[in-house]
Amino acid sequence: MVKLLIWLILHGAHPSNDTLLHRHVAPHPKCSRCMAPSDSILHCLRDCNRSRDVWGSVSLSLWSNFFNLDTIAWVSAGAGFFGVVNHFQATQFCCILWWIWHARNYEIFSNKHIKSTQVLSQANIMAMESTRLLSKLEVSQTHIRRVQWESPKLGYKLNVDGSSLGNTGHVAWEV
Ligand SMILES: [Zn+2]
Repeated sequence: MVKLLIWLILHGAHPSNDTLLHRHVAPHPKCSRCMAPSDSILHCLRDCNRSRDVWGSVSLSLWSNFFNLDTIAWVSAGAGFFGVVNHFQATQFCCILWWIWHARNYEIFSNKHIKSTQVLSQANIMAMESTRLLSKLEVSQTHIRRVQWESPKLGYKLNVDGSSLGNTGHVAWEV
């Protein structure tokens, strides 16, 4: 779901009100939270007051032009494409985007506000869990080995296989 969100953003298909108006789905381009005139992708995920509250609480130091980049440059930098951030920070950035989007939708459709500290906390939990799972996956991948028949170093090896069709049915075996 986080990857899909990043893909939508990078392809200009993120369903903020600006995009939805362009597709004749939304009645206006305004931000549904702060009523700013344009709910662009950047406004929704970075520049809206609600989103800024989250970014303002992030412990990782935001790069110098964080609030001045366009959508593609901003997301690409945050997702680690340019080496501006390390692997964990890139994961954290993407998880924060997802949680800001989730909180925005929750507020609009359920009329309930999620505090910026909760958004950040959930994003950090998601980032740590993702990093932990990915590191486990990388470790387990290093233990994958191809299983095949090997001749014994000494003596003989007898390979036997058999099958039966039911308890008293036909039996076959091979040596
Ligand atoms: Zn707004």
